[in-house]
Amino acid sequence: YVAKEKRLPCALYTQQQNRYSLLRLSLMSELRGAIARGELVLFYQPKLAIKQGKIISVECLVRWQHPVHGMVNPDDFIPLAEKTGNIRYLTLWAIDTALAQCQRWQNEGKLLDVAVNISSVDLQDASIVDYVQHTLEKYQLAPARLALEVTESAVMLDIEKAIAMLTQLHDMGVRLAIDDYGTGYSSMAQLKRLPVDELKIDKSFVMDLSHNRDDTIIVRSTIELGHNMGLKLVAEGVENQDILTLLGQYQCDIAQGYGIGRPMPSDKFEQWWQQYHLS
Ligand code: C2E
Ligand code: MG
Ligand code: MG
Ligand code: MG
Repeated sequence: YVAKEKRLPCALYTQQQNRYSLLRLSLMSELRGAIARGELVLFYQPKLAIKQGKIISVECLVRWQHPVHGMVNPDDFIPLAEKTGNIRYLTLWAIDTALAQCQRWQNEGKLLDVAVNISSVDLQDASIVDYVQHTLEKYQLAPARLALEVTESAVMLDIEKAIAMLTQLHDMGVRLAIDDYGTGYSSMAQLKRLPVDELKIDKSFVMDLSHNRDDTIIVRSTIELGHNMGLKLVAEGVENQDILTLLGQYQCDIAQGYGIGRPMPSDKFEQWWQQYHLS
């Protein structure tokens, strides 16, 4: 990992010249400062338990309120933060911020679990485990209130290390989700070795579910396979009511997408949540 970091400058200015714009490079040097200045915020996107018709949890998604560039989305700074090692600070910030919010909601009688995304780089950093434990204690939250989302490709980068770390987190009681499921190259045989609770079917299979026969087959068989393995199934990218109805028919457990609610800042989310349970 250290060696990778040392190779970075040359990697950045040669092959990657086209992939990373100057804007992204300048953003990167600012990221740690941005955390200190409080320019990062979490948006919260509702996750709906389909059968119960209730919002049971939220996914926490980072946004950068940049003083010059406006609202910057994570796809524009997370990949580089991963390359430079700065992702660690973002991850620690996201865990603390999400759990602080979870505690505030709990104190107001709103029972909402929180899900935080962690990157492949975080899976190489064993100190994250202690940090999670420490932060759960700091906010006096049961570990099961927190879910960590990690993509299958992140896990496959070094599956032995990932298993070791995810097992420690899982033994603590933290829940684990495989994100963007279906877009990586993991086999069920490999996934079976991970202490996973939830599979999140990637939105590319869900968004056209009502029109695309292949997607229908993929989504239905993934739900069946996941259930047979004792996992909860989440569909991301649920953009309309038709898709939600189909997912209910297919026995999918949880739905997330613009058709239910967009990612929102905490105050907007709270208003939305109250409305949702009134109607
Ligand atoms: P993800 O974890 O798969 O998050 C879902 C992404 O899909 C979010 O994009 C969300 O806004 C978007 N989305 C939700 N519903 C719909 C829908 O119905 N249709 C469509 N087209 N999109 C939908 P976002 O917020 O831009 O985040 C992109 C990715 O950035 C995330 O993908 C995640 O991998 C990463 N990310 C976000 N926050 C964090 C973070 O705090 N830490 C790390 N390591 N990664 C993060
Ligand atoms: Mg996610
Ligand atoms: Mg995803
Ligand atoms: Mg994604």
